[in-house]
Amino acid sequence: MTNLCPCGSKNSYADCCGLIHRSGAGFGTTAESLMRARYSAYVMEDRPFILSSWHPDTRPGTVTFSPQQEWLGLEILATERGGPLDSEGSVEFIARFRHDGDYFELHELSTFERVDGNWLYATGGDPD
Ligand SMILES: [Zn+2]
Repeated sequence: MTNLCPCGSKNSYADCCGLIHRSGAGFGTTAESLMRARYSAYVMEDRPFILSSWHPDTRPGTVTFSPQQEWLGLEILATERGGPLDSEGSVEFIARFRHDGDYFELHELSTFERVDGNWLYATGGDPD
């Protein structure tokens, strides 16, 4: 049985976000692939990956994971630029999770910047 990637791509983790998590050189070729890899890193509580793929200008000191929080899925709604030839891009998504038995949807527009060839997560905000 293959281990499906938490990002919902229907590919195996090893061939999807696992490739990006293991890669020492770069965080994916597109903003969307980094967005997916960051979601999977939250699911897997991979703090080093989350922090290292965060733009230094906006990176927090650390991230914390709540044991009461269960991630349920990621849905990419739209992407703008963020391709192999771009230097910035944005991804609008919904991440669904349960926390303490309640259901939540995080609807966010994230922006990404490419620094020294690597996509980095820059900002996240309300899409409206
Ligand atoms: Zn994935």
